[in-house]
Amino acid sequence: MKAPVRISNLCIDYANLRVLSNLNLDIAGGEFVVLLGPSGCGKSTLLNAIAGFNDVAEGSIEIGGQNVTWAEPKDRGIGMVFQSYALYPKMTVRQNLAFALETARVSKSEIEARIARTAKVLQLDHLLARRPAQLSGGQRQRVAIGRALVRDVGVFLFDEPLSNLDAQLRNDLRIEIKRLHKQLNATIVYVTHDQVEAMTLADRIAVMNGGVIQQLGTPAEVYHTPANKFVASFLGSPR
Ligand code: ADP
Ligand code: MG
Repeated sequence: MKAPVRISNLCIDYANLRVLSNLNLDIAGGEFVVLLGPSGCGKSTLLNAIAGFNDVAEGSIEIGGQNVTWAEPKDRGIGMVFQSYALYPKMTVRQNLAFALETARVSKSEIEARIARTAKVLQLDHLLARRPAQLSGGQRQRVAIGRALVRDVGVFLFDEPLSNLDAQLRNDLRIEIKRLHKQLNATIVYVTHDQVEAMTLADRIAVMNGGVIQQLGTPAEVYHTPANKFVASFLGSPR
């Protein structure tokens, strides 16, 4: 189910302000691409545009070979994980996972099968009857990831999913996300301002600043052969 993502000459405006200008990015099916850059550089804007939450001023977005520039978020074949878990507090973990499938026209037995599989992958089996308030931060974020996984789509979008967690949990979940990527054979676009996260997770990193991709390359490429002063200083590359 791994879908490629192609972004061509994308421009996004907030009111009169152009936040992304003529941005191009080609992501292969199954690739793990990290959008890395300082706060305010446009990472979330780009991710939200792929998800369908931002109006496009110019340019186009293709997912799995389909032009989705004007498609509704639910019709794009994406699953998204936000920094704040955004779980429904009154629903159990099982209901939170099932709710993500409500718009997806799948049968009851298929819903059960997908929940079982997702719970197994994320080690949530023993937590399905609990409500979010009865979970730790790391468990909540695993449920949030589960809500994206259960949709069984070709592209997963992560916006700083580990930023609210402590260092140990961040580390554990990072390893888990890496493992999931291999196991799911899906395309992942992952936003972070954390270099270590970017370096350890990415097949390729898009280093962003000022609404522009400054460099796109493997972790070794961007670190050892930075394209400009910004990339070198942001990554702390050796001179
Ligand atoms: P990042 O995720 O890299 O921190 P964002 O994509 O959130 O950056 O923001 C990029 C720029 O757009 C910033 O200057 C931010 O202030 C601005 N911005 C983000 N969201 C909005 C919005 N809804 N309305 C107006 N400006 C926004
Ligand atoms: Mg952001």
